[in-house]
Amino acid sequence: MKIAVLAGDGIGPEVTSEAVRVLDSMDLPGLTLFTGDVGAAAYRAHGHPLPPETLTMAREADAVLFGAVGDPSCDDLPRHLRPEQAVLGLRAELGLFANLRPASMLPGLEDASALRPEIAREIDMLIIRELNGDVYFGEKGTRTLGSGEREGWDRMAYSENEVRRIAHVAFRAAQGRSGRLTSVDKANVLETSQLWRDVVVEVAAEYPDVALDHLYVDNAAMQMVRAPGQFDTIVTGNLFGDILSDQASMCVGSIGLLPSASLGERQSAHGTFGLYEPIHGSAPDIAGQGRANPLAAIFSAAMMLRHSFGREDDARRIEDAVKAALAGGTRGFDLGGSMGTRELADAVLAEM
Ligand code: NAD
Repeated sequence: MKIAVLAGDGIGPEVTSEAVRVLDSMDLPGLTLFTGDVGAAAYRAHGHPLPPETLTMAREADAVLFGAVGDPSCDDLPRHLRPEQAVLGLRAELGLFANLRPASMLPGLEDASALRPEIAREIDMLIIRELNGDVYFGEKGTRTLGSGEREGWDRMAYSENEVRRIAHVAFRAAQGRSGRLTSVDKANVLETSQLWRDVVVEVAAEYPDVALDHLYVDNAAMQMVRAPGQFDTIVTGNLFGDILSDQASMCVGSIGLLPSASLGERQSAHGTFGLYEPIHGSAPDIAGQGRANPLAAIFSAAMMLRHSFGREDDARRIEDAVKAALAGGTRGFDLGGSMGTRELADAVLAEM
């Protein structure tokens, strides 16, 4: 079990070390952890946010456990040297096009949701975000118009194949859940979205057991706070998925709770090669204070055991321990409590 641990910046190392502590406690056979520099830390040490040695380490591993990247001190660097490029680079270089973001209401946390408890209680969704295309990877630039005014521009595009492969992931995921899939786009305005919708409809013909519907992203955002229980599996593009999954995090209580798995087509010896990370960023506002919630990172480690190592029982063992700790009143600062990063992980380990 070769795992590349890329903790990154800000709270990344704080939460990742707790996830590693959980893994270390489990006596997993052949568990071997490698650590590499990524993000602002890598830029300072190697002059690049994703140095070649880190990329090689990630390629040679069965899975990557990722923290977060981003540092305000790098905001003035040219875009290709900013820490955030490291995670975009890893996703692109490793062919990780499917980002799975489960969000469900955990028992005992109903009061922590930004929604009323009776609405929040119904939440159990899986957001599948396309990760290799869209406006994030299109050409971009700033130009000067004839009037002398500056204009920023970013090209939004999806190819048929990019949509088709994420659609297959989503239909299969929906089959494994309740058989309902919602595709989110903006087909009333964007050509990119119209193609997205057309291709999703074509792929649907291969999955007659899945009930497919479509929502425009503005309506989806509204429905997610009005009646989130209506959603089961959601598939959407890179930009819309980024925004909707942050919104989903507050519906279930905190961004510090949501993990993610980024998968591609590459298989490892024990499952699918993947990169696992909390959905949150480096949170510079709380970095270094021991206040970050490590539960999203710990949940991410559980997803890694499930998808990359085929260890469903071990994944459940971690997830059940987190749920038991939360049900028993364990609360970090993000959930209105006073437990620090280490204490929260201790509570999970005690349950395990
Ligand atoms: P963020 O997710 O880092 O933080 C948003 C808010 O949530 C902050 O108030 C933060 O304190 C809080 N928060 C986040 N994670 C938390 C946790 N585990 N426990 C408690 N509170 C938590 O988003 P941001 O502030 O928009 O971005 C900060 C930096 O992170 C930026 O440089 C951004 O580009 C980067 N970023 C990186 C990734 C990634 O590495 N995949 C993802 C998102 C943002």
